[in-house]
Amino acid sequence: MHIPFVDLKAQYHSLETEFDGAIKQVVSATAFVGGRFATQFENSFAEYLGADHCVVVGNGTDALEIALRAVGVGPGDDVLVPANTFFATAEAVVNIGANVIFVDVDPLTYNIDPERIAAKITSRSRAIIPVHLFGLPAEIDKIVEIARANKLKIIEDCAQAHGATYKGQKVGTFGDIATFSFYPSKNLGAFGDGGAIVTNDQKYADLARLIANHGQPAKNRHTIIGRNSRLDGIQAAVLSVKLPHLDEWLEHRRRNARRYNDLLADTGLTLPFEPADRRHTYHLFVVQVPDRDTVQSKLGEAGIDTGVHYPTALPFLEAFQSLNHSPADFPVAHSQMSKLLSLPMYAELTEEMIAYVCEHLRIAITRTAAATD
Ligand SMILES: *Cc1c(COP(=O)(O)O)cnc(C)c1O
Repeated sequence: MHIPFVDLKAQYHSLETEFDGAIKQVVSATAFVGGRFATQFENSFAEYLGADHCVVVGNGTDALEIALRAVGVGPGDDVLVPANTFFATAEAVVNIGANVIFVDVDPLTYNIDPERIAAKITSRSRAIIPVHLFGLPAEIDKIVEIARANKLKIIEDCAQAHGATYKGQKVGTFGDIATFSFYPSKNLGAFGDGGAIVTNDQKYADLARLIANHGQPAKNRHTIIGRNSRLDGIQAAVLSVKLPHLDEWLEHRRRNARRYNDLLADTGLTLPFEPADRRHTYHLFVVQVPDRDTVQSKLGEAGIDTGVHYPTALPFLEAFQSLNHSPADFPVAHSQMSKLLSLPMYAELTEEMIAYVCEHLRIAITRTAAATD
């Protein structure tokens, strides 16, 4: 059996007629960039989240850069970022001229460790970017408390957590501003690149919209130096077709996670942790396994595609070499690098496929353990 890591085809086929109709509509209206399809999606996504404003942009990385600028972060400012996240979270900070200050992660939730934030705050600190990594909300109450006490702006990076909740409230509505990615393989994905900025603050929304469209509040009037980051009408229309199904897909991901958890409960592996006050949306189903690389290649031989998120924590990447970090600076993120393994996860994964993955994972860890005894 071949089990792909993600399978975008199944979802496409389940709504094929609707997608084709929506795309045709955009093309016949020649509403190619921005326009009414984008506005329509902005309204429904804001409503879905329970936020006041949504501004769609070109991708999730642009969303971060624009959101940082909109809340007033700029050159010379320090921005706190978790040591393990996708590269773009830190890249956006550097690209607006600010400094990345990494904070180690929690060993069970994989999110920024609130206990380690205070030690990193200085007079230069301006903002913090909690990432709701793998689809699990970060410990946002504590983060908000620390941020408010230190006058830090909060930019929530929700690229992996559309629809995830903390105490019943959707992520993206806790901080000053939040960003989303609609990259095709995200839990809500377009047919190309896409992103959004969400906020309850009218002035941040206005500024984000201005920055994303050449600093142009009206045609041929340019009030600031902005940039071009807009969403295609086709992507907006595709996202509007998908949004009404998102909660059902997230429920399927959660059901699949429960199946994995049941079948792997007695393996001794570290399984994903879901605190009782949070709704994990399982963008990724991440376990920790000893001798990960061997286990991963054994699964590959059985036709099971897996991933690693991420093989090198950000402070140890070549791009951040100049910061001169050592493993002791981020002991948790560093020790997890060699153990994290992401199993196939998507709504359409069947019970049979999950059983097959678990059976082979069990064989792989037993053999690997025997070989090292
Ligand atoms: C995907 C992702 C991004 C970047 O989004 P793009 O749309 O690919 O630019 C940023 N942060 C995190 C945590 C992501 O997973």
